[in-house]
Amino acid sequence: MTNSIWEPRSSAPWLSSSRLPPLTGAPIAFSFAENLAVRGVKMDAAAFLRERRVVLERRLRGRDLRRVTVHELFHFVWWRLGNPARASWEALLAAERSRGEAGWSAEWRKSALTEADRRNRTRRWREYVCEAFCDAAAAIYASPAQNTLAPRFLAKREKWFAATLGGRALSI
Ligand SMILES: [Zn+2]
Repeated sequence: MTNSIWEPRSSAPWLSSSRLPPLTGAPIAFSFAENLAVRGVKMDAAAFLRERRVVLERRLRGRDLRRVTVHELFHFVWWRLGNPARASWEALLAAERSRGEAGWSAEWRKSALTEADRRNRTRRWREYVCEAFCDAAAAIYASPAQNTLAPRFLAKREKWFAATLGGRALSI
């Protein structure tokens, strides 16, 4: 791991119009694949954290490509985020009585959650918390095209990002 700023637009020029915070760490490689699937399930993208690479579905274009790329980049941010910030994000979601989500990945997981998942902080709940983080980042920094949250909830999440992650480079 390095402490230098990494400019994702150098390897992902399609991010040029996204307003990403500065990122610090070793570079992440992007590649494209057709009919991307992980264990038989169709996917828009897959992040390989230890290998520091992201595979994107070749059919993605424009704002969808930007949104999916930022979502995957924030999987690396979540990985390095540290427990206090993760716990703070989880508490925000636990207190948020909202319908919808900032993106489909979080939304289908949220709709499958039970009260017991929330109470016991099961694996399904924790996966939802992570996907909601990445989808919120994608909606805030790239495109809100998949957002179905009421504007006040997305605004509150954006405030959380600014207060918790703002003013410093994010480790990836
Ligand atoms: Zn994800």
